[in-house]
Amino acid sequence: MSCEEPIDELTLKKRLEKIGTAFIVLSGKGGVGKSTVAANLALSLFFRGLRVGILDVDIHGPSIPKLLGLSGMRVGVSGEEIIPIELHGQIKVVSMGLLLSGNEQAVIWRGPMKANVIRQFLQNVAWGDLDALVVDCPPGTGDESLSIAQLLGEKGSAIIVTTPQQMATIDVEKCITFCQQLKLPIAGIIENMSGFVCPECGKEVDIFSTGGGEKLAKDYNVPFLGRIPIDPDIVKSGDEERPYMYFYSKTKTAQKFDEIVEHIVHFKKNEQTPHKTDVENEIHVVPSSKDKKNGEDISLPDKASKKEDIMKFAVPTYQGKLCAHFGHCEAFALIDANKEGTITNETYVTPPPHEPGLLPPWLAQQGVDCVIAGGMGSRAQQLFAQQGIKVITGAQNEDPREAVIQYLKGTLETGANTCDH
Ligand code: ADP
Repeated sequence: MSCEEPIDELTLKKRLEKIGTAFIVLSGKGGVGKSTVAANLALSLFFRGLRVGILDVDIHGPSIPKLLGLSGMRVGVSGEEIIPIELHGQIKVVSMGLLLSGNEQAVIWRGPMKANVIRQFLQNVAWGDLDALVVDCPPGTGDESLSIAQLLGEKGSAIIVTTPQQMATIDVEKCITFCQQLKLPIAGIIENMSGFVCPECGKEVDIFSTGGGEKLAKDYNVPFLGRIPIDPDIVKSGDEERPYMYFYSKTKTAQKFDEIVEHIVHFKKNEQTPHKTDVENEIHVVPSSKDKKNGEDISLPDKASKKEDIMKFAVPTYQGKLCAHFGHCEAFALIDANKEGTITNETYVTPPPHEPGLLPPWLAQQGVDCVIAGGMGSRAQQLFAQQGIKVITGAQNEDPREAVIQYLKGTLETGANTCDH
């Protein structure tokens, strides 16, 4: 490989055509939580129903595999293509940490080959159709950030992560200038480790002065995306290699990530690149296709439309009927109903592939308050309890709508838990 190697522009163009948008996550300095933010934003985007990829271009210190619990895994190769690791069978992940072992990296990365490798990470990876690619860059504005911004061209926009202490420093300003020089639109600034949520009482305490992010964003006329507090569970989940948004999805901090994602999916690049029209640049939020399954429309839930007095129920189904085995259902009926038992919305969603521990946080992300099931193992019940989701087992009625109505009217018959292991 060499930097002068002829470039296969067409292959790259074809790959990029299938990627809706790309968020390049930057920071002025290391240790501000850039990788943590990148990983959790990607998960939050995924939980909205988007097709998501994560590309870690931190060649010397890749941390995405660890943050996503993928340490030790290796990407595949098929012919000319790199096959990404699929987290829970859905989120496509590529990182140097998934390509080579630590020792190999030390040998190979002495040459000036980074730009070429980053190109291959885009061009030669079987990304497939993605709504959003989240790119985690090394700290600063070095070769990797420059290469990826240039390769992604109009698909890219930057998210700058900083902390209250770093906010007004020259490093952050350098990041902003870097984007301006490259004409890379800035989707916004995130103030991470901003305030502390007391694990005992839940009260938010500002340890360092906060609010600098908003001021900085205002000074540079770029969007301010939000603040993420210092949360000991973020450290814990990182150390334990358990993706935060999966395992703590109902926390205030998780909500902050979701709120930031709400901003970025509506970010219009033309606010900074005036040549484009709104329609061309609005980021695609919810997959437009409605899958047909068992004659039902399957669409993604609209979390924003949830009203306070409406409860959201999840009923595991097989061929449209309540499924006795919770973990092996085909689809979940998501049913919104008010306390009087009137159904206001009903959708069917396909769960991610069955993996222990995944469904409770996934359903929490769909905004579910209560699961009505035939049978459910005790471990899954504990996980739902942690997510603050109520579980009813042994439901006898096979019709998901009827089961919900009967539950709300207090007439649902429940028998033995059919799967109590
Ligand atoms: P960077 O990519 O900027 O070098 P990392 O994402 O690797 O930073 O995070 C550095 C450390 O800070 C990690 O131990 C991580 O768990 C921790 N961290 C990141 N964000 C938070 C947060 N909001 N609250 C508590 N710890 C955090």
